[in-house]
Amino acid sequence: MSAADEARVLAAVPDGLLIGGEWRPAGGGARFDVFDPATGTRLASVADGTPDDGIEALDAAAAAQDDWAATPPRVRSELLRATWELVQQRKDDLALLMTLEMGKPLAESAGEVTYGGEFLRWFAEEAVRITGRYGTNPENTGRTIVSQHPVGPCYFITPWNFPLAMATRKIAPALAAGCTVVIKPAELTPLTTMYVGELFRQAGLPAGVLNIVPSTAAGPLSERIMDDPRLRKISFTGSTPVGVRLMQQAAKRVLRTSMELGGNAPFVVFDDADLDAAVAGALLAKFRNIGEACTAANRFLVHEAVADEFANRLTEQVAAMRVGRGTDPEVRIGPLINEQAVGKADTLVRDAVQRGATVRLGGGPVTGSGTFYAPTVLDRVDAGSDILQTEIFGPVVAITRFADEAEAVRLANDTEFGLVSYVFTRDLARGQRMIEGLRTGMMGLNVGVISNAAAPFGGVKQSGLGREGGFEGIHEYLDVKYTMTPNPFA
Ligand code: ADP
Repeated sequence: MSAADEARVLAAVPDGLLIGGEWRPAGGGARFDVFDPATGTRLASVADGTPDDGIEALDAAAAAQDDWAATPPRVRSELLRATWELVQQRKDDLALLMTLEMGKPLAESAGEVTYGGEFLRWFAEEAVRITGRYGTNPENTGRTIVSQHPVGPCYFITPWNFPLAMATRKIAPALAAGCTVVIKPAELTPLTTMYVGELFRQAGLPAGVLNIVPSTAAGPLSERIMDDPRLRKISFTGSTPVGVRLMQQAAKRVLRTSMELGGNAPFVVFDDADLDAAVAGALLAKFRNIGEACTAANRFLVHEAVADEFANRLTEQVAAMRVGRGTDPEVRIGPLINEQAVGKADTLVRDAVQRGATVRLGGGPVTGSGTFYAPTVLDRVDAGSDILQTEIFGPVVAITRFADEAEAVRLANDTEFGLVSYVFTRDLARGQRMIEGLRTGMMGLNVGVISNAAAPFGGVKQSGLGREGGFEGIHEYLDVKYTMTPNPFA
């Protein structure tokens, strides 16, 4: 990919708000800039939606709702499928765009195009499988009909770490179910969502079904939209504090809510594990997306009998990873999203070191342009360290040792989060005990990556509510209605 490719892809991104099927400027004409975190250079300037623009987007979504709900499921399905096909045709451009605005290595961006695109195909298939049931009540005095109906207009707020997948994971099931959408992409990475919005338009999605409002006024814009009685659902992916605040706002109007919040994933390696598989899994679970994933392994809990060997092998592999701008095909670790992210990772590392952790590799920011943090391996991290309770969101491994299974389970569950856990063991019964014992919504059992469009993604405890993907994903956008009728033979 050359500088000319970069310029061509950026020129193809719309720079307005998508409202009622048209791209248009923000009210008052305000704009904001989007930057390349690897270089700090400005990539684009886009319309900065105001709360009034948000209401206009909701006007469009509300106006389109009844027709979209009445559109044959097969037609909704084929529009999703057509958009998936456009994503495939533009996959190289989309991957480059994601690397430019978010920083992840190009190969990982390409992987996200496949993964994120898959939600369009999966929910194209699910759109035509929304069913109900018909039953006899136990007394045989009546017949019960259970049917499912679109929830209505939805509002989505997405984060910057997976600019494509976080958008399609919400948009695709909503559209499949017959709901219309207003989406506010993260202000740090709005370009990918805007590009995909244009693909939906080109695929022939009716005006108003999908509206996109990039904005730097996330709080006021969201409050206005969520205060409007026409809105029926909010789905958010981001940090737990913002999620809690949105749930409080959603309570005012009793909105349906889906929340994909923070994680603090344990990565448990037992002494009977295949260590090659555990190290390979650790590299993926920790370093995919530069560690900037809610599913990232945050705490490595390793049995004391294999901890040295695991740490040695992992450190050797991490030391070989090239750090740099994600457009370079040799690069495995891109920049963190901004200075704040570098500062947060560094504060956690310093705290752990101060409490006695051993630095096996890295241990600080990379000097020079861009917001890079050196891939870091910390061993013998003390139980009281902040890094064990806080989402690191960076390329930092924190290893803690345990003596037996009971201690591993206790340590793994010692967090308010419950998104995902990773377990490496060759013992089937132990694996099953972990499935039942670890309080997380998802588990990688002898694998380091769990995300899949066909699987229900989501957490328990403070990691959130609801599921995205799988058969479950579309139910977040459907209301159940039950109808009682008399026994027709009585
Ligand atoms: P991060 O710290 O990873 O950026 P956030 O939870 O702050 O995570 O951001 C995720 C998304 O939430 C972004 O789209 C951001 O604009 C949005 N956001 C942040 N604060 C608010 C808020 N008060 N109300 C609504 N959305 C918000």
